[in-house]
Amino acid sequence: MLGLMQDWPLLCHRIIDHAARIHAGREVVTRSVEGPIHRTNYAEIRGRALKLAQRLDRQGIRLGDRVATLAWNTWRHLEAWYGIMGIGAVCHTVNPRLFPDQIAWIINHATDRIVMTDITFVPILEKIAGKLASVERYVVLTDGAHMPRTSLKNAVAYEDWIAEADGDFAWKTFDENTAAAMCYTSGTTGDPKGVVYSHRSNVLHSMIVNNADALGAGSKDTLLPVVPLFHANSWGTAFSAPSMGTRLVMPGARLDGASVYELLSDEKVTFAAGVPTVWLMLLQHMETDNLRLPDLKVVICGGSAMPRSIIKAFDDMGIEVRHAWGMTEMSPRGTVGALQGAFSHLKGDARLDRLQMQGYAPFMVEMKLTDDAGKELPWDGKTPGRLKVRGPAISAAYYRVDDSILDADGFFDTGDVATLDSYGYLRITDRSKDVIKSGGEWISSIDLENLAVGHPKVAEAAVIGVPHPKWGERPLLIVHVKPGESVTREEILDFMDGKIARWWMPDDVAFVDSIPHTATGKILKAALREKFKGS
Ligand code: ADP
Repeated sequence: MLGLMQDWPLLCHRIIDHAARIHAGREVVTRSVEGPIHRTNYAEIRGRALKLAQRLDRQGIRLGDRVATLAWNTWRHLEAWYGIMGIGAVCHTVNPRLFPDQIAWIINHATDRIVMTDITFVPILEKIAGKLASVERYVVLTDGAHMPRTSLKNAVAYEDWIAEADGDFAWKTFDENTAAAMCYTSGTTGDPKGVVYSHRSNVLHSMIVNNADALGAGSKDTLLPVVPLFHANSWGTAFSAPSMGTRLVMPGARLDGASVYELLSDEKVTFAAGVPTVWLMLLQHMETDNLRLPDLKVVICGGSAMPRSIIKAFDDMGIEVRHAWGMTEMSPRGTVGALQGAFSHLKGDARLDRLQMQGYAPFMVEMKLTDDAGKELPWDGKTPGRLKVRGPAISAAYYRVDDSILDADGFFDTGDVATLDSYGYLRITDRSKDVIKSGGEWISSIDLENLAVGHPKVAEAAVIGVPHPKWGERPLLIVHVKPGESVTREEILDFMDGKIARWWMPDDVAFVDSIPHTATGKILKAALREKFKGS
């Protein structure tokens, strides 16, 4: 027997329809790429997204065609998302921080027909345009007055282009499993892999994000997603905010501490989401001038492990820190670290210990831990295993790759090594390719890094395994010292001594001028392993 309920496909553009009806005047504020602060609202965004949809349709963009964006978080980028998805085309967010050759590879692999770009990235595209055979037109996200001179094929200013449409247009209807968006993983190993989200997975994912213990921003809140729309779906904020009527503040191209502080403060932001580097820059800026953020309630931090010093700094200011873990393949939300009732009374180190964990899975994310042979491991908070996940917003396959990426039970191997405790709290100890195996036992490079950055003179730290004749591998600690400071190997090792098991102590400390990062801000361990091969 079937239920007798309406068939109402879960389509992304229904979210902006809802926002335009119920929260029509709710503001979307942007620090525009051209400079000034720009203000619009959900009703206007919907109207302009419809014009874009009409214009794309007239251009011959059809169901399943790919349209790329290389763009900062702005109201125009948000319109592009809804406009593209609303006709069943696929919005392909490209990370402009990748190397130009990688950008070309990704655009060619996706065979994007149109590329929408901010003025910032026009020079990068001009360099690789000769290689982009599938691209028919470039739309520059600006107005006629700011349109740069460019050699890009059929280049047009976005405002001029959508002005050719009258907006008398209706979204298309299609199956909820239709592709809505795609995003390539940064490919630290091998070629980048295309993750393809569906309308259904995006809508369900926004429900995951809206969960009060996940992001949980409501219609009274103002959200600043520092995390870019091109980084793993901006953690779902482009859907969750309009679905709730949350006011949005978009940071455009300026993500430094001072600029982010200014927006948080001037716009009275209550929720903010970003990677640890962003919060580090913000806190440094605030510390220098002894600044405060009385309106900020919740900071979500993820993408890489959140150092304890950042957690403590926010916690001391009475700002709730939620450490989140996820990945592009998970749309990307995996876990979020709001404190469950059992832990809300914790104080001091015990509280920070709990906040430093990556949180627990919301409904619609299932997890398991296994050994290398696939045998399930206990959730005892201490046995590390391979972390595998299952759910309606998690990848089942990569674009144009035939191999299955799921195990016999339909779980996806995240490539992370973690522990889970009986409350479901996750602690990521490593990526499987970064884990250090010493005498057959795992040493967590993340734990060692977290400890080392706790030293007041250390700006950033990375730990890699280097070959050892007796133990197989031993940890090498690589340190970037804060500007103007100096510190010795012994001082750092003394600082770490007693805080970890003896056999976890790094065998040596190497000092570097800077630590290399991937396009999404993670430490590029492959480059460090190459550099310290002979150590
Ligand atoms: P990439 O940067 O490789 O394109 P993602 O942004 O999807 O891809 O990265 C996902 C990976 O980032 C996870 O598998 C995990 O290793 C790491 N990661 C994300 N959040 C955290 C966190 N809070 N703590 C530790 N590692 C994290």
